[in-house]
Amino acid sequence: MADAYEVNKDRLWSTLQFLGKIGQDKRGGVTRLSLTEPDMAARAYVEGLMKEAGLTVRRDEAGNLIGRLEGDRPGLPAVMTGSHIDTVVQAGIFDGALGVLGGIEALRTVKERGIRHRHPLEVVCFTDEEGVRFGVGYLGSRAMAGAWTGEWLDAADDRGITLREAFERAGLDPERIANARREKKTVKAYVELHIEQGRVLEERQAPIGMATAIYGHCWLRVTLKGRADHAGTTPMALRRDPAAAAAEALLAAERTALRYGGVATVGTMSLAPGAINVIPGEASFTVDLRHDDSATLQRMKRDLCGEIHAVCKRRRLEPVIDVLDEEAPVSCGPAVLEAIEQSCRASGIPVQALVCGAGHDAAAIRGLCEVGMILVRSRDGISHHPSEWSSPDDCAAGANVLLNALLKLANRT
Ligand SMILES: [Zn+2]
Repeated sequence: MADAYEVNKDRLWSTLQFLGKIGQDKRGGVTRLSLTEPDMAARAYVEGLMKEAGLTVRRDEAGNLIGRLEGDRPGLPAVMTGSHIDTVVQAGIFDGALGVLGGIEALRTVKERGIRHRHPLEVVCFTDEEGVRFGVGYLGSRAMAGAWTGEWLDAADDRGITLREAFERAGLDPERIANARREKKTVKAYVELHIEQGRVLEERQAPIGMATAIYGHCWLRVTLKGRADHAGTTPMALRRDPAAAAAEALLAAERTALRYGGVATVGTMSLAPGAINVIPGEASFTVDLRHDDSATLQRMKRDLCGEIHAVCKRRRLEPVIDVLDEEAPVSCGPAVLEAIEQSCRASGIPVQALVCGAGHDAAAIRGLCEVGMILVRSRDGISHHPSEWSSPDDCAAGANVLLNALLKLANRT
């Protein structure tokens, strides 16, 4: 444990518990959709914590809360950490919250102990990471990275409240969101602490993981058009059955993922008209392809589309394949990886490299600076659910690695 600083484990745990009560219902689920009352109450709590930690706090034009600790050389770019406190519906208390509270705890420890650092340190609580309410995820981090587009302002929640109105109600000017953009020269690196939300670390019996990359994704909607016919009077040879073709396509997606070492998921599927005694005329399904290498992800898409076309040709069907969304993978930065690795070693924690499967604010921030992620073991890999759990020891271990990694980055020229 020679060169490693440690955060206050009990204080971190008690802030996690306190924040977890805001927006929590009787069954233990937390619902803090972005810019709703519980989210605003949670932000007020986080802002108070930042101030208590001795940080200079400001709210930028996208509503991101930023706590800053000046370094020995104030003009240098900041070393940044952060995450989000908005949640999905009926969430747990760790997703996002650990990164914000762990970041505040890390900076608070630096301040309390008077630890010297050259670069300024910042912790950010980003606005609307989950994207549940308006369908626009990574809102605050994208705005900070300069990827805000005004088109999103008209997106509405299920009560018809638009993003524009929600911003106004929160006391923010929706026309100024783009001004949250930071210049590249003001940020040196970004390290995010987050629960793993998967089972890899638990399998490896490791408390902490270091993401080497964040999966990119390609989302497809596939519609196969055939011919609806009577299930009894149409012999097999005369059929143009899109359901059978969809089954072949699903297996092709699985083979593609296995061949390239990525993942593929068919999460929705529907048949029309949809009756037990009718051969469907149309099958439609979505495919979620993910990989940590950009070129390989494109190859997965190309191969799968090729196979679907071949199946359709053989079965005399017409395929329509639309790309719904595409996001390139993120490679974590070498300086950040080195800092995390050294911090794990200094704290006596084995270094576990893994690819981060879920999307995070770090992915959006990559346009601004080098990024990296410290992942904390999740019990049973459960997330976005009230039974989401990471132990006090694991949470503190993650915050310790974060603290030391931030200091290493902040003292490196
Ligand atoms: Zn999250």
